[in-house]
Amino acid sequence: MSILSAVYKDKLIGINEYTTDMKGSIVCKCCDSELRAKKGNINVHHFGHVSKLKCDDWYYKDNKGSWHIMWQNICNMLYLEYIMIKNDVKHIADIFNVEKNMVIEIQNSNIDKQHIENREKFYENMIWIINLKNLLREDGDFNSSDSFILLETILLCLKQIKVFLNL
Ligand SMILES: [Zn+2]
Repeated sequence: MSILSAVYKDKLIGINEYTTDMKGSIVCKCCDSELRAKKGNINVHHFGHVSKLKCDDWYYKDNKGSWHIMWQNICNMLYLEYIMIKNDVKHIADIFNVEKNMVIEIQNSNIDKQHIENREKFYENMIWIINLKNLLREDGDFNSSDSFILLETILLCLKQIKVFLNL
């Protein structure tokens, strides 16, 4: 439930640029609703919606832990949390590579086949970065209920990587 970039007085800012005098004037670049900065000592610093009822439900479906935010932190803020609009539908892509016109979705929690297909249909040119650690049991084997999803996801990823590398 976290977002790393936001709008302050028509200017894009990252969570690291936030200062307390901006409080009450930070809005989400997707839904225009108010955001609050969460800069505590335990969780990774991020913005949270005061109310996220109007915002992108795809974006908030994934549990965006520190693994997810680590990936986002390695790219230019202009590429982060890119708002894509098609037929009046808005979604927040985790990362958008402008040069390759390609969306990079970072997936920390499990995702079902239907959601994978919906996102690939919407973003079209995209690749996934998936945290496989959550699909492994402590003994190193896959969780049986998740194995099928994992296999399908990997196959979809391979397809996308082939396109990405022009194979
Ligand atoms: Zn929003």
